Amino acid sequence: MSNSKQTERATPGSCETLLHILEALPGALFVIDGTEKIVYANASAQAMPGATPEALVGNSFWRGAPHLVNTTLYQAVRKARQTQEPTEVEYISPVTQNWLHVQLVPTAGGLVLHFHEKRALTRRQETSSPDEHLAADVLENMYVGVGFLTPEGILLDINEAPLADAQVRREEVIGQPFAQTPWWTFYPASQDQLRAAITRASRGETVRFETLVHPREGMDLHLEATITPHRDVDHHVEYLVYVGTDITARKRAEGEIRALIDAIPQLVWTGRPDGYVDFYNQRWRDYTGLSTEEVEGEGWMQCTYPEDRQRVLETWQRAVQTGRPYEAEQRLRHGTTGEYRWFLMQATPYTDAQGTILKYVGTCTDIHDKKQAEDEIRVLANAIPQIVWMMRPDGSCEYCNQRWRDYTNMTSEQSQGDGWLQAIHPDDQQRVLERWQRAVQTGRPYEAEQRLRHGTTREYRWFLVRGVPHRDDQGTILKWFGTATDIEEQKLTEEALRQSQERASVLMNSNIIGIFVDEGDRIVAANDTFLRMTGYTQEDLREGRMNWLHMTPPDYLDRTLEAHQELASKQSITPYEKEYVCKDGSRLPVLVGGVILQHHPSQAIGFVLDNTARKELEQRKDDFISMASHELRNPLATLKLQTILLHRQLARQGTLAPALSSMQTQINTLTRLVEDLLDVSKIQAGRLGYVQETVDLDALLREIVDTMQQTHPSHRILMRGAVQTNLLGDRDRLEQVFTNLISNAIKYSPGAETVEMDLSTSPESATIRVRDHGLGIPRELRDKIFDRFYRVTDPKQMAIPGLGMGLYIVSEIIKGHGGTITVDSDVGKGSTFTVTLPLKRDA
Ligand code: ADP
Repeated sequence: MSNSKQTERATPGSCETLLHILEALPGALFVIDGTEKIVYANASAQAMPGATPEALVGNSFWRGAPHLVNTTLYQAVRKARQTQEPTEVEYISPVTQNWLHVQLVPTAGGLVLHFHEKRALTRRQETSSPDEHLAADVLENMYVGVGFLTPEGILLDINEAPLADAQVRREEVIGQPFAQTPWWTFYPASQDQLRAAITRASRGETVRFETLVHPREGMDLHLEATITPHRDVDHHVEYLVYVGTDITARKRAEGEIRALIDAIPQLVWTGRPDGYVDFYNQRWRDYTGLSTEEVEGEGWMQCTYPEDRQRVLETWQRAVQTGRPYEAEQRLRHGTTGEYRWFLMQATPYTDAQGTILKYVGTCTDIHDKKQAEDEIRVLANAIPQIVWMMRPDGSCEYCNQRWRDYTNMTSEQSQGDGWLQAIHPDDQQRVLERWQRAVQTGRPYEAEQRLRHGTTREYRWFLVRGVPHRDDQGTILKWFGTATDIEEQKLTEEALRQSQERASVLMNSNIIGIFVDEGDRIVAANDTFLRMTGYTQEDLREGRMNWLHMTPPDYLDRTLEAHQELASKQSITPYEKEYVCKDGSRLPVLVGGVILQHHPSQAIGFVLDNTARKELEQRKDDFISMASHELRNPLATLKLQTILLHRQLARQGTLAPALSSMQTQINTLTRLVEDLLDVSKIQAGRLGYVQETVDLDALLREIVDTMQQTHPSHRILMRGAVQTNLLGDRDRLEQVFTNLISNAIKYSPGAETVEMDLSTSPESATIRVRDHGLGIPRELRDKIFDRFYRVTDPKQMAIPGLGMGLYIVSEIIKGHGGTITVDSDVGKGSTFTVTLPLKRDA
């Protein structure tokens, strides 16, 4: 027997007797070596169904005796080899369905396995535990394929379902490398997948993969395969458990869905509940130029703009963890152009009846143009020299432009949400927030004045903040756009205006000054004081019965019109004295000033001070002067006459006393003063009359100079030129004029030696200039010195006696002769008085 030969060759002890015994043993007996190869198989073993004697000796036990192979046996072999202790197991033959009892006895370098077949079914029922039954039933009836593999991938056991699929018997595949069984051999790629999975699983990893198998002609199955390592007590991988679930239907359904999704002209993807993205549709693949395999899982990051990666990944993971919909904006690279475009990524989970998330379905909407438009708006907003902001529909801040950031020194992030409130004045915050919330709730435009803090100076300025909602076609608010305008200046101006209005109203209502507004001749507004002064009523005013032209007496008309001309040319009137005719016809002396209203050039404001009291006082003074001078004149005349008589009498007696001449001089001075006072009174009363006679001006002036020279030897009075013509006038009054001017020239030039008088003439007039080299008169006082009783108050001038009447009388007399008098002067250098008298006067 061929196998006897083999046995002889292989058996350690070539003992004929032992061999006979072994051959004669009931049941199959195998001896295997350390590599689990069969070194001996007795006759019963060779007679076992499915065993081919040639295939037994020298082959792997697991491959040579598939009709005996079972996981229980595999475990027992392992155990016996490890422990080197004899052991026994029982199990049902995968081929004959009979119970097998196996005794395992370790030998040096090998193992003896002795099988006894037990046909009695009762035995099986007796010995198998209910659990085993159940496990066997479950396994056999399971739709899934379950198998046990050695760590090397040899199939130890497999359930019925896959066998049925492949239409093979168990013994045909048991003991075969699993990858070479009919399911796997058709698709080399699947085979590779399985081999790789076995290698990984044998290192202790649980491996899951989806694959395609081909159990028989005309049958393809999509499987979800899991290979789990089973460890022994020492944590060594003992065997592998393979589970293959048929997912063909699911795959087909998915395939259909994917085909459908592929047809969608939008970028669509699906993700597993754990966040693993498992599918991208055609549009997506076309856009990114990447296959689903390339971007599976987190592979989509590679076409995501680097700056966006972290943010979107976090958002996606958060969505997956919380089971909430996902939404994020991100840039995706175009596969061909390499350009990035903005997309809005949205994904919603869909769940089963129990609410368990089965899948995420996501879309990507191209929002590039919208984003760009937004960017453009932002660029524009940044260029605007005004604060610009954007708020979300919920009222939180989305964007503030550069101007805001510059002003507040806040970053975009700090201003986000409700961060912007930090820049608002604490006193305004509550009000602003309430108003803003009201606007957000009602959707009505927002407007408020509020103070904003300057980031650097920490000072607050007033801003007018406005916001308007931007809505879609359905009227839903998409965004709020707003501005903030610095109104600090305006606020200050408003405050200043308010104060000025308050002042104006105080002034208007004061009872000191009368105020009216006129337009043309008509008085259109007036305060109570003006009405009280003039006796008119508000009604008169309303009815237009107040007219300044009518209220001006004829003798003041010229002066008033002159004042109005000044108003027109200079926009204001230098206050002047006049009188108004009151409503009852009485006259009211007033001091009037006025200005033109800048924004109403047709209107002017008049300021009126009641001058009655002053005028009365002046009148009393004038009356007194007139009275006093009259009263003084007569006794003075008597005194003067008596001294003359006395002088003559003493002269005749030849006993002239010097004291008398001195007395006469004083009396003359006094007389001249009284005369001046009388003249002033007369001028005031308009009673200074002039005699009309022909006057030889040259002769008159010569005479005056001679006389003055005699009485004033301190100065040399030089007379130059000549008028060479007569004029019509009052000789005495003209004498008074030039005497006065020369007298002043001498008086106010104490240190000088000369006084010059220059005469000249023209066809129309004679001009006489009286020049001195004395104290001079300040420019601003040159008109004032012709006023009644006016004297320059400079100490040097005040030291020189005088009453301020001379020049007043002089100018009145010259005026009375139709002439003019002016003065030209340099302080400290001297003055020149120029008198011009018309040669022919109108009668
Ligand atoms: P008085 O009697 O004070 O001289 P006048 O009417 O003659 O009065 O002159 C008025 C004022 O004009 C004087 O007080 C003096 O201050 C000034 N004044 C007049 N003439 C001269 C002059 N020639 N030089 C300087 N000041 C003069």
